[in-house]
Amino acid sequence: MTAVPAADPAVAGRGAAEEDLRALFGQSTAVFASLTGPAHVVETANRAFFDTIGQERVRTGVALVDVMPELADQGFIALLDQVYGTGEAYIGRDVRVVLGSGPQAREAFFDVSYEPRRDADGTVTGIRVLGVETTQVKHAQRLMTEHRALLEQIARQAPLTEVLDGMARCIENLAPQEVLVSVLLADPDGRHLRHGAAPSLPGFYNEAIDGIATGEGVGSCGTAAHRREPVIVTDITTDPFWDDFRELAGRAGLAACWSTPILARDGGLLGTFAMYHRTPRVPQESDLALTRVFAGTAALAIERHHIEQAKTAAEARARAAHDELARVLRVERELRAEAEQRAVASAELAARMRAAAAAQAALPHPEHCQLGDKPGCTAPAEIKIADSWGDSAWGCTAHVEEAILNVRSVFIASEELGGLAAYLNR
Ligand SMILES: [Zn+2]
Repeated sequence: MTAVPAADPAVAGRGAAEEDLRALFGQSTAVFASLTGPAHVVETANRAFFDTIGQERVRTGVALVDVMPELADQGFIALLDQVYGTGEAYIGRDVRVVLGSGPQAREAFFDVSYEPRRDADGTVTGIRVLGVETTQVKHAQRLMTEHRALLEQIARQAPLTEVLDGMARCIENLAPQEVLVSVLLADPDGRHLRHGAAPSLPGFYNEAIDGIATGEGVGSCGTAAHRREPVIVTDITTDPFWDDFRELAGRAGLAACWSTPILARDGGLLGTFAMYHRTPRVPQESDLALTRVFAGTAALAIERHHIEQAKTAAEARARAAHDELARVLRVERELRAEAEQRAVASAELAARMRAAAAAQAALPHPEHCQLGDKPGCTAPAEIKIADSWGDSAWGCTAHVEEAILNVRSVFIASEELGGLAAYLNR
């Protein structure tokens, strides 16, 4: 976890995760068998030996290869022959052996020693086999390596689907039995679950599950999300939680489903983490530990993703606010420029009108303004205006200004104070 910064939540959850990783190591017991003669006849073996190879194969007084025929193809009988022939012990570390055959076969790892037994003359008479199974240790080591890789992926902010897909595949590859992993993501309101990652479940199944409601009795995941606690369904064919999904699960070949809610640090629902099995199964303590470790990892990945999303949204909002401010400032600048232009034009007009009023003051004119609405403006007539039709009138300064600004063809009359006719007939 060295790649994860100190402030990272991964560190906060590390204590509990390490507990679970320790549980995943399980307990190792020594297996022992004493073989005799060149055929390696099983003389005696301890209980752990038969527990390991399967209780149905408890037999003594027969050759080891008859008890465990799978050993011949893997070279172990030849190895025993060699120890028997040379009298030299063999010691192996993390030796891989496939126990059993067919669908029951399982991969196991052992630290082993084959020690020759000798009679009083020193002649080899048999072999003592001593082994300590290291399968769980091997698995836990691989698990920790994969887990660290996932945390590093989260720390460098890989896309969420990539992290969750990788996590699902990692668990599927590490599990001794076939397991299919599914991660569902909770909607922000926590009422529905969306597809997150399930690389090994069939597409039709993922599509059908996408968007299921959270609630009591809605399969393992809907119920786990609703209760905020793990829901272990060991047999889908009989569990009432699966009434609505039994046929679907049957088509997908699913027989058991253990689901654990993925919770945020504040207890909010982030999603569910589920392990499906092809046959009815009850979880072992190590299965539950595995689930807790990866539900915690998924929580970390999803929370990281939410923080990133919130940051992106905040940046977009800030950008939009900035754009809006720039637009308002531009409009304000344009309005001010227009107002200044108008002020200049209006000052020019006022000056022209003052000059015209002074020039026309001495001329005969009506007492009152002839412009404005009926019954008519009572202000003194000061300026004569005309239009291009040849009409003319005397008005007060206010009405003259209004007429000049609003009627394009109006101008201050001059040249004997006629209308446009006065200009044309000159
Ligand atoms: Zn007037």
